[in-house]
Amino acid sequence: MAGLVFFLHCGTPCNTFTSAGKNDGGPPPLRFALEPMGLQELSEDNQALVLLGNIFLFRTVEACRLVFNLGGNFSIENPLLSLMWQTQAMQQLISETRALALDFDQCAFGAPSVKPTRLLCSTDLLDDVCVRCPGNHLHVQLKVRGPRAGKLIFRTKAAQIYPWALCASIAMNVTVIYEDALAHLSTTFCLTTPVADRKRELGSSKPWPGHRQADTALSSVGWLSTQAWGSMWSWSRAKPFALPCWPSTRLQWRLLCLIRLIKLCKI
Ligand SMILES: [Zn+2]
Repeated sequence: MAGLVFFLHCGTPCNTFTSAGKNDGGPPPLRFALEPMGLQELSEDNQALVLLGNIFLFRTVEACRLVFNLGGNFSIENPLLSLMWQTQAMQQLISETRALALDFDQCAFGAPSVKPTRLLCSTDLLDDVCVRCPGNHLHVQLKVRGPRAGKLIFRTKAAQIYPWALCASIAMNVTVIYEDALAHLSTTFCLTTPVADRKRELGSSKPWPGHRQADTALSSVGWLSTQAWGSMWSWSRAKPFALPCWPSTRLQWRLLCLIRLIKLCKI
C-alpha cells in the first residue's frame, strides 16, 4: 500500500481450477464452466480444496487491484483453459484494469509439454511471450495411465516450473517497464520527420477555414451566414442570385427562404 511494488506476478495455484478433471478414473472435477467457484455436491476434503483455491483467487485479485491502483502493473499466470478466467472476480478485475490476455505455449520456450498458458497482464509490454508451438518437436504427455488398474495419473505438478527462456523474456520486459515504461513511444515524441519533409515550420500557425458541415447545419435551420450563402450556391448547380439587401426582420427571412425553396424546386 506504500506503492513500493511496481510489478506483481502471480502464479496462482491452478490445481482446483483445472478443466482437465473428468469422471474418467483420474482426479474428479471440482468445478465446471457454469460453476467456476465450485460444484455444489463435493466431499468435505474436496470442499476444503475448492475453498483454498477460491481464497488464492481472491487474494490474487485483491493484490493485483491494489498494485494497479497505485500505478503499478501485474500479470497473472494460469493454464489457458483454467476455470479461474471464468470467475466473476477475475472478470471484474479485467474490466477494471483493461488487462490483456497474452496466450502462449510453454513448449515454445523449451518446456517438455505444450502447456497452453495465459498471462493476464495489465500492460502490453509483455506481449513478446505470445508464441505458439512451432510444431517441430515431440511433447511429453501430462495425463498417463498408471500401472495400477489403468488409473489416470496427472503429471501436471512437474510442468509447473516455468522454462528458463520464458522467465528471461518476462524479466527483460519487466526491466523495461521499471526503467522507462514509455520507451516504446519515444519515436512518437521525438518528431522524427526531417525538417525538409515537414509541411510547415514547427510552431507556425495555420488559418482554419472552418467546417463545411457547420454551414450546412446552419442553412438547414434557415439561418445563413454570408459565407454560407456563397459556399452553398457554389455547390449547387443553380445560378447564384444576388441578394438585394441583407434581411433584418423575421418576415424578410421567411420570404428569403421561400424564394430559395422555389429556386431549389426548379432545379
Ligand atoms: Zn510444442
